[in-house]
Amino acid sequence: LFARPCTFFYASQAINQLPPMGAPEVAFCGRSNVGKSSLLNALTGQKALARVSVTPGRTRQLNFFTCDEGRLTLVDMPGYGYAKAAKTLKADWQGLMFDFLRGRPVLRRVLLLMDARVETKPADRAALDLLSDAAVAFQIVITKADDVKKAQLEKRITEIEAIVKKRTAAHPLVLITSSETGQGIPELRAELATLAG
Ligand code: GDP
Repeated sequence: LFARPCTFFYASQAINQLPPMGAPEVAFCGRSNVGKSSLLNALTGQKALARVSVTPGRTRQLNFFTCDEGRLTLVDMPGYGYAKAAKTLKADWQGLMFDFLRGRPVLRRVLLLMDARVETKPADRAALDLLSDAAVAFQIVITKADDVKKAQLEKRITEIEAIVKKRTAAHPLVLITSSETGQGIPELRAELATLAG
């Protein structure tokens, strides 16, 4: 997987304009600034993949990337928890996300990214609830593991594992990554390879 470049092929701002369902999909979500773009770039080995689609309003759309000659599609979901977002936008975001998560049988897994440096925020809990309500399989990926001391990382892992245990739709394996050092990237690729068509 990811031996060949992934390419951006579709941006969606509304649930009635999604691309046709084809390859298995894996979606990436998390708070704004969690390190999602960096992780997508590290994962694919493409320095600017997650910037390819930078247009105004990009944060409000779902971006689709096709990988490995159509065997897998990566979906970059808009970051949440952005303090300046208007309340109505948040409601729109939740609505779009929920409809997408509910109505996408090809969606094999959602990766919920969590920053190693910050504790779980209310917006993360809301995202966990959304994923649970939509009954999609999801997996936690800890980002920026290089930026915390070992003891702090272990505390964060324990906290997140406790959350995972309470959620039946959560994959038990919590992946620990750093886009900076490449830690956990091969493991993440291996995980995605099990989901590809
Ligand atoms: P996004 O908003 O979720 O797409 O986050 P970005 O990928 O743009 O990253 C947000 C900030 O976190 C940037 O300043 C990155 O340089 C930084 N960052 C991302 N990944 C890592 C990482 O693995 N380690 C460290 N130390 N910083 C990171």
